[in-house]
Amino acid sequence: MRKKILPLLCTFLCGSLLLPAIVWSAPRVVVSIKPIHALVAGVMQGVGEPQLLVKGGASPHGYVLRPSDARALSRADLIVWVGPQLESFLKKPLATLGKRARQLQLTKVLADRLLPLRKSGSWEEHQHHERADGDGEHGEFNPHLWLDPRLAEQIVAKTAAILGEIDPVHRPQYQQNATRLQARLAALHARLKAKLAPVKHIPFIVFHDAYQYFEAAYGLNAIGSISIDPERKPGARRIRQMRQKIKQLNVRCVFSEPQFEPRLLATIIEGTDAGTGVLDPLGADLPAGPESYFQLLNALADNLLAGLRGPAAS
Ligand SMILES: [Zn+2]
Repeated sequence: MRKKILPLLCTFLCGSLLLPAIVWSAPRVVVSIKPIHALVAGVMQGVGEPQLLVKGGASPHGYVLRPSDARALSRADLIVWVGPQLESFLKKPLATLGKRARQLQLTKVLADRLLPLRKSGSWEEHQHHERADGDGEHGEFNPHLWLDPRLAEQIVAKTAAILGEIDPVHRPQYQQNATRLQARLAALHARLKAKLAPVKHIPFIVFHDAYQYFEAAYGLNAIGSISIDPERKPGARRIRQMRQKIKQLNVRCVFSEPQFEPRLLATIIEGTDAGTGVLDPLGADLPAGPESYFQLLNALADNLLAGLRGPAAS
């Protein structure tokens, strides 16, 4: 009996003595949005937990920094974000509050993998994305880069590398986590590719051009967007235009996003052959943590599949 208690006691004591030290010594990492937070959390597993800024159903567009966010930024060792085109709310605070932190700006480190914004034909201009006014630093690219698992693999690699520099003691752990995560991401990509292959050719429309990287990864046939300001209901004329577009393009499904009322979508497709679905590029309802990236992409694929197969196939 005593033999068993001793190691237990030791584990307990060592654990309770070491735990505060480990927590204290973990780098303080702040991440802007949930899918990226999930990847960073995966890299940090066993060392510490990154803090998430834009939580729940909140949108990075038009997000307002809270006092607790400002505190987190001013204490951070590392801040991971996409870039000013997506999280315009971070632009100023990063220059002031986040001055002492290292930054991992994904549009910078993945600059050679960015896709240009689609503006012609049936792709309507983004109404909510910050333009790179004046500074000339950022081209006109689509900032929703996390929706391609192959880019997620790169995000994981960049995160592990920078964390290893900031916190060399845990470098082997970051590397090990990154390797495991990258293998899972590669497997996810292969799975989604096989899953989505049968619906590749079917035309669909989205509410805003957030899925370009996902489409490119799986060769999907998104043919346009219906940009709608979630704050304002479209007028009768606008709805007429949208119906025309749906008919013209022979659209199978119109996908909205969680912040839109289902009734609005029903009004838009009235009198057309299109069905409806919902896609969520951020994972509003998902609990934050390493698994939410996988849940987000699986849900995206499942919802797309359901909408594109339509009622005829079910
Ligand atoms: Zn967007």
